[in-house]
Amino acid sequence: MKQIIVISGKGGTGKTVITAAFAALAKNACLADCDVDAADLHLLLEPTIKERHEFRSGKTAVIDETKCTRCGKCIEICRFEAISKDFIIDPTSCEGCDFCSLVCPEEAITMQENISGEWFISETRFGPLVHAKLGIAEENSGKLVSLVRKKAKELAEARNCEWIVVDGAPGIGCPVIASLSGIDCALVVTEPTLSGLHDADRVIGVAKHFRILTKLIVNKYDLNIDMTGKIERYCKDNNIDLVGKIPFDESVVRAMVEGKTIIEYPDGKVKEEVINIWNRIEEIKQKSC
Ligand code: SF4
Ligand code: SF4
Repeated sequence: MKQIIVISGKGGTGKTVITAAFAALAKNACLADCDVDAADLHLLLEPTIKERHEFRSGKTAVIDETKCTRCGKCIEICRFEAISKDFIIDPTSCEGCDFCSLVCPEEAITMQENISGEWFISETRFGPLVHAKLGIAEENSGKLVSLVRKKAKELAEARNCEWIVVDGAPGIGCPVIASLSGIDCALVVTEPTLSGLHDADRVIGVAKHFRILTKLIVNKYDLNIDMTGKIERYCKDNNIDLVGKIPFDESVVRAMVEGKTIIEYPDGKVKEEVINIWNRIEEIKQKSC
């Protein structure tokens, strides 16, 4: 089984459109959406949810007012100013450090686990999908990403899948690092702009740090041929395999509006190039990466 991930230096580069196309092309794949802060792979894959689970992460202090004598010690020591003068704890300010529960003479404060989001196992027309949703303003997306990866691997093993196709988080933060473990090949998607190249360079640096085979895709390459030339030179200088250049085409938007992947859409130049890229990636099945 090989695991590939599609990532980008920032959001909006076409990463999810490309992941969904790979999902359509891979036969016998398990899919994982690790963009838990803004999951949108499900919009194209229209999954039927089979399992739904709470994601618990971190703790918040809670005061039992029947035990509280209003001595004020907890307010004094909370350096996050999470406790109001009425002895109510603001869960968005509480960092879960547990200090207040230790100093409370009445043992009136307990730490309660937060429900930070949900994760799902679903069926799609291209195979099973593990996906998740992090609650608004919740942290620990790295932990949720690790959970999604773990569950996708278990599912892929149970079903003898040949591929795990992962939609990664954008950027270079904790969720991306969590989504890279055990990956055989990372595909970085960029657009032909200076900031796109800068962002791609940063995420390539992260993938290389973890010694992951990394390839680059330029999306909408024909919108700025000069910049695409610069990206080609960058790839040559840094020994990065530029695995494909996808042209701009309105068929991508039309397919999205119809809830289809570009592969399910009638012929188009984008579809052709994505199929070529997939055929090049398929070669990694023969190699030890
Ligand atoms: S330290 Fe305990 S008893 Fe004192 S105000 Fe806080 S919760 Fe109440
Ligand atoms: S757990 Fe820490 S941050 Fe939360 S209210 Fe208590 S002292 Fe403040």
